[in-house]
Amino acid sequence: MREEIHTIPIEDAFSKDCECPVCEMYRKLEENAINFTVGPCASYMESDIREQSDAQGFCQKHFQKLYTYPNKLGLALILKTHMDKTVNDLEKAAKAALPKPNALFKKKEIQPHAVTDYITAYQKECFVCSYIHRNFDRYIVSIFRLYEKEADFRVKFASSKGFCIEHYKVLFEKAPAYLSKKYLEEFLNVLNQLFLENFKRVRDDLEWFIQKNDYRFRDAPWKNGQDALPRALTKVGSIWEEGE
Ligand SMILES: [Zn+2]
Ligand SMILES: [Zn+2]
Repeated sequence: MREEIHTIPIEDAFSKDCECPVCEMYRKLEENAINFTVGPCASYMESDIREQSDAQGFCQKHFQKLYTYPNKLGLALILKTHMDKTVNDLEKAAKAALPKPNALFKKKEIQPHAVTDYITAYQKECFVCSYIHRNFDRYIVSIFRLYEKEADFRVKFASSKGFCIEHYKVLFEKAPAYLSKKYLEEFLNVLNQLFLENFKRVRDDLEWFIQKNDYRFRDAPWKNGQDALPRALTKVGSIWEEGE
């Protein structure tokens, strides 16, 4: 059953005209996670969810995304109790014995302390990221399951526009854990070819975009150069434009 549930978001992502279907899967999950956090039917008023978001907080990227969302009051409520918890925890941590000056031969060494240990752990946590990752890993496994089971999906996969460099890595390194001998080599060959061919295609589009800025090519057709820059950013940085 579980595999069936994940078929739809994967089929959808691979049907979309984009530079990385895995980014597209991620983007949808992120959208769901933001909606789940501050959307119209948001869960932030439920105490168990609130406890989680109080404890985890958010990473810089997701604080920014939450802030651009219209529900300012929801975000303020979430932040207020998150800050309450942070104050409590840091007050406790600050009671630990303070660091002494570094010994001469360890001048640049950073001494561990409850305060900085707390902040280091705090910076690694994000409520939205953890929501995404829980589902994302299952989606990746479903890509391999579909690849093995469905001939139609293998065709769809091979006719995609390739992947960003990050998700090329994810697919490459996880494939041996999930694909059988029958499909692994074929998958990796298709993946390598797809990635490189399409990465080069976007690089060439970018080259044309650059040339078009030269007055001598001002009247030449744009071909695929016009949106080459955002597409190149997807390929190299897994960055996509909002609202697509
Ligand atoms: Zn990607
Ligand atoms: Zn995050």
